This record gives sequence, C-alpha cells and structure tokens, in this order.
Amino acid sequence: MQPIGIFGGTFDPIHYGHLRTAFELWQALGLKEVRFMPTGDPPHRDAPLADAAQRLAMVRAAVADQSAFVVDDRETRREGLSYSVDTLAELRREYPQRSLCLLLGMDAFLGLPTWHRWRELPDLAHIVVAHRPGWKAPTTGPLGELMVDRGTGGVRDLHSATAGRIYVHAVTQLEISSTELRDLIVDGGDPRYLVPDSVRAMLRESGCYAQDGR
Ligand code: ATP
Repeated sequence: MQPIGIFGGTFDPIHYGHLRTAFELWQALGLKEVRFMPTGDPPHRDAPLADAAQRLAMVRAAVADQSAFVVDDRETRREGLSYSVDTLAELRREYPQRSLCLLLGMDAFLGLPTWHRWRELPDLAHIVVAHRPGWKAPTTGPLGELMVDRGTGGVRDLHSATAGRIYVHAVTQLEISSTELRDLIVDGGDPRYLVPDSVRAMLRESGCYAQDGR
C-alpha cells in the first residue's frame, strides 16, 4: 500500500516552496497523497499572524487543482496546544496498516528534539526530510544517532514498513519563506510568483499581514 505523506506547517502563508517540495516528495516517494495539515496554536514557535481559518482557507485554495493534495484541518479544530505526536498517534489509529511519512524541511528536522515527546515520533511514522537551502544533515547529537539507527537510502523501506525509518531527499531548492513573504507584504510588495494566484488574491482581499502594524 502506498504511504500517506503528512505535511504539517503554520503555512502563514503557504507558498511555492511548500507546494513544490510536497509535489516532488509525492512523486519521488510514490505517496498515495500528501496531507497538508495547518497547525492550530503551535507550541514551539511564535503565534502565527494570520488566524487558523485564514491559513486553512489559503492552503485549501493552493491545493485545489492537485487531487493528490488533501487538506486535513484537525489541528486547527483542536482546542489549546496541538502536538504532532498526538496527531500522528491519532492517524496511526485511523490507519493501522498504512505507511505514514511525516514530511519535514531540514530546518524543521533540526528542531525536532525541541518537539513534545519527539522520541516517539519515529515509532508512529517514517520521517522524510527535504533538503532546504543552507542546511546540512546532522551527523552528531541525538539526531545524528537517529540517522545512524534509523536512516535509510531506500524508498522501498518506506513502503515495506508502516513507520520507523528516516529518509533524506533532495528537492528543488526554492528559497521562499513565509517570514520573508509577510515582511514583503508589510512593506507593500507584491508576492506574485512566490505564491499561487489564488493565495495572492486572498492575501490582497484579507490584508491579513498588511494590517498587523509591524
Ligand atoms: P516561517 O518563515 O514562518 O518559519 P516557513 O516558510 O518555514 O515559515 P512553515 O509553515 O513553518 O513555513 O513550514 C512548514 C514546513 O515546510 C516545514 O517542514 C518547513 O521546513 C518546510 N518548508 C518551508 N519553506 C520551505 C521551502 N522554501 N522549501 C522546502 N521546504 C520548506
């Protein structure tokens, strides 16, 4: 059975760096689908600037024309702090026989040891790490150990087991970040060609970053 990819993020806002990464991983890994999962109230970073409903609406608009991209809004519906370990445990119960792949950029992977109960994550899903510009795979510390214990260079391992492996994959490097996009919009710039046109239209209509007073 083909694995399900889970792509979490604040998506504040979603941009082509996210979409191209998800697309390349979907193709290269032979995923059944990529599930975009916007965070509700993220525990390990500053609060997002667009509210969950706005971020979710932008993600929905961005993936509308790609049938293998699915939006899962469970974290935005949850009250209080939302932890990836709880989300993955829930998905594991829903899909006991299915391979699950947590898709992360390298920057997110390097921050993994700060995540709540992070050591349980590889038992719930494979972890697939997309190279991002300027980031190197860790060779020391807890993540270096994790790579030695669970690293694999074979996509088939992601299909033959339901969880447990770490796989690093190079994707086309698009150096776009949500932070820079927000700054651009605050400064009156146009995010054209950095985000889908549908998202650009929503950003204009809502004025969500332009109005935050920064
Ligand atoms: P911010 O600038 O607000 O931190 P971001 O652009 O990094 O946002 P997130 O929503 O925090 O976006 O990221 C969600 C996931 O997408 C993370 O796993 C992150 O590593 C990955 N990601 C973000 N930007 C890119 C990019 N340009 N290319 C590949 N992966 C990316």
